[in-house]
Amino acid sequence: MSLKVCKFGGSSLADAEHFLKVRAILESDPTRRIVVVSAPGKRFSDDVKITDMLLLCQSVQEQGLDLGQMFQKIRTRYKEIVQNLNVDIDIDALLDETEAQMKKNGTKDFMASRGEYLCGRITAAWLKARFVDPGEYLQIESSGVIKEETYDKLGEALKGDDLVVMPGFYGCTPKGKVKTFPRGGSDISGAVAARAVRAELYENWTDVNGFMMADPRLVKNPKHIETLTYKELRELAYMGANVLHDESIYPVSEPGIPIEIRNTNDPTGPFTRIVPSRPKDDRVVTGIAGRKDFYLIQIEKILMNKMVGFGRRFLQIFESHGVNFEHAPTGIDTMSVIVRKEYVGEQLPAILEEIKRTLQPDRLEVTDNLALIATVGQGMIRCVGFAGRLCTCLSKRGINLQVIDLGSTQDNMIVGVELNDFEEAVRAIYEEFEHQA
Ligand code: ASP
Repeated sequence: MSLKVCKFGGSSLADAEHFLKVRAILESDPTRRIVVVSAPGKRFSDDVKITDMLLLCQSVQEQGLDLGQMFQKIRTRYKEIVQNLNVDIDIDALLDETEAQMKKNGTKDFMASRGEYLCGRITAAWLKARFVDPGEYLQIESSGVIKEETYDKLGEALKGDDLVVMPGFYGCTPKGKVKTFPRGGSDISGAVAARAVRAELYENWTDVNGFMMADPRLVKNPKHIETLTYKELRELAYMGANVLHDESIYPVSEPGIPIEIRNTNDPTGPFTRIVPSRPKDDRVVTGIAGRKDFYLIQIEKILMNKMVGFGRRFLQIFESHGVNFEHAPTGIDTMSVIVRKEYVGEQLPAILEEIKRTLQPDRLEVTDNLALIATVGQGMIRCVGFAGRLCTCLSKRGINLQVIDLGSTQDNMIVGVELNDFEEAVRAIYEEFEHQA
């Protein structure tokens, strides 16, 4: 029998009005049997997400203070939803129990996970559905990788003909302690559930109609993307297209389950379908995404090319500080590393000090206003002159390129520009490839 897993994001569960839309979506298609929920998100632009409030509870408690006052705001949000929907649940008892558990088990992961847990319990009671707690079945290793046996165990728990609600965002460590995914990780939970039940489709319901060719805050009315491959999605999402968590494709890629990004507020409107592969078409560029706030750390040392292990030692310095690197462009006597500022945090002086001490470079330079733009598309490999067009459209606007990296599979070209040029550069690339050939 065909079966769909539907994940609803925080914006789709922000208040009772949205819950009603969720129910209508589920009722319109009985194959939508497995429902994965986020925690209620923002109702208006300066509202606070439940997960953020829970993280505040955690930091309050860490400082030795009582989280009660902060938790009161969380209580109010959930009670409002329960009252407005007339849900048959003892919400006071559930909230009291959760608050008491948070006071006893103050780990960041446990506290953050309670937003989805509570939302799942309420949604299940409201829809008269079965509640499945991923804290019992979904095992996440310390590296973040899903333990293989999860798929069988969770698949067994989700089996049946009935409607099931599972909270997103968390699972457990192999030792059974609650563990969360990174922020936005309910998307990953939905993908894990889809693979566990071998769903025909993973629907990810949010507040937009899928992906656009570029960020609509930077480009006016960008084109809508109808289909994306897993790989294109991963590149775009990783580089800032904030619609779906980039790690969501791993669970579904082995069985090849498609993902659809749909809009809860426009359920029959356009959407984006993410598929293992798509037939060759005329598109050169599928999408453009970018991120600000990178450091470019460059070193120069004469005869570096002859020093076996030099590159490894350079990269090891970042590893020993727990910092991932994004790119490492090299020359004969030069090597650069591009790292995200958020990963480096306060460690920059210590990293630079170690580079000077252990590698003794002739020159060490840090650029701290680098933005990266990824232009992604499976069609670019066949397009003679693609890189030339991209560079020319930027140079025509006087934008200086700091870095160029044409990925080895030639479906993603990354350019680094100064922060001030970021928005103009995205617009220039979009305009160049909007009409493609
Ligand atoms: N509630 C979590 C967050 O705000 C996870 C999610 O919504 O996907 O990041």
